[in-house]
Amino acid sequence: MEGDTHGSPLGGGTTAVHRDHGMLIIDGKIAQMAPYTELVTQTKQAHPDIEVEFFTDHIMLPGLVNCHGHAAMSLLRGFADDYALMPWLEQHIWPAENQWLSESFVRDGTTLAVAEMLLAGTTTFSDMYFFPEASAEVAESLGMRAQINFPIIEFPSNWASDTEEYFSKGLDLFDNYRHSTLVNVGFGPHAPYTVSDASFERVAVLAEEIETHIQVHLQESAAEVADSVRDYGVSPIERLHRLGVLGPRTQAVHLTQFNKRDIELLAQSNTSAIHCPASNAKLASGYSAITHLLAAGLHVGLGTDGAASNNTLDLFDSARLAALQAKLHSSDATALNATQSLHLATQGGADALGLGDQIGSLSIGKQADIIAIDTSQPALQPVHNPISQLIYTQAGRAVNHVWIDGQVVVRSRELLNIDLAELLANTKTWRDKLVKR
Ligand SMILES: [Zn+2]
Repeated sequence: MEGDTHGSPLGGGTTAVHRDHGMLIIDGKIAQMAPYTELVTQTKQAHPDIEVEFFTDHIMLPGLVNCHGHAAMSLLRGFADDYALMPWLEQHIWPAENQWLSESFVRDGTTLAVAEMLLAGTTTFSDMYFFPEASAEVAESLGMRAQINFPIIEFPSNWASDTEEYFSKGLDLFDNYRHSTLVNVGFGPHAPYTVSDASFERVAVLAEEIETHIQVHLQESAAEVADSVRDYGVSPIERLHRLGVLGPRTQAVHLTQFNKRDIELLAQSNTSAIHCPASNAKLASGYSAITHLLAAGLHVGLGTDGAASNNTLDLFDSARLAALQAKLHSSDATALNATQSLHLATQGGADALGLGDQIGSLSIGKQADIIAIDTSQPALQPVHNPISQLIYTQAGRAVNHVWIDGQVVVRSRELLNIDLAELLANTKTWRDKLVKR
């Protein structure tokens, strides 16, 4: 049970703040929420042995949902900065991946990413990367919730030699995690410029058949749209629409470019949008006018993208950037206010991933994915408005405790399931290897 002095922003359409409230956690789910003293009295009668914990000066809120990233690329943090998207990929990232990509790279990189995300209050991440079996296993073993999107791409990698192998390995992975409570597996066709029509059509049919989701990088840059018009005669969104890929199971990442027709197609098909404000800015890919997507009724979530193009996996940072960029681009300081930005980082993201009925808010019956922010430090004081404080002060640094499925995974900023010394030593070893490219 958790007491809280500053309140709990609730998702699910409204973001209410409750002061001096507590939650009763039973079997990994939120069973009750009420004013703290009332809850303790009731609960002690019904469950005399229950463990009671009290947190003063803490804001309790749902764990953040990082809707897009490439966790293992945390080993490439700072490896190639200050390049545009295509030179960055073609001259730096892909050659390094060709040389070093392996199961152990993904295992160690994903562990580093999970450690960073947990300490910054993320309790669910969606991932698209090679050796997804390693990311899935790391997430589950560390008690982290994850959506693992296995890659489909039309060139060989150290993970799969051809399209057929991408599909077969990915579908095996889907089968292996069919009954997992923490990990769900879906399709990650990389992007319109790296995936053929035939593969997209196959992804669309299979996703419907096995009832899982699709995540795809989509209209990330103006060049991508221009190339698509040149090669296919239509925008990537129009092309995916014709191939049957758009739909409520599909998550479109980036969308820095879109016209009226594109928004119509996304809205009519109920496709979700994932906004990555940091990587879009750092790679100068463009600005995604998400206020238009929200106005059209799309589910919108936030993603950090990989640490090689951000370079932080702190989703509070992305929430702050999303709010600041929306204001700057619309010349309207009221655009994407703190409450809306927090919604994107929690319930909005959960909805975008198709997990909105299980996570994303502190609501009775939902999974107890909860974080506690310690406000008793200079950068977070005074607390006039808890929600503003969460979004505008980079509150990720003040995450003190984290629970996933009701299990504590961070206690007083200590990672309970990760040997930090071993992780840091592994990370340095990788740095030394990668330097010798
Ligand atoms: Zn990405």
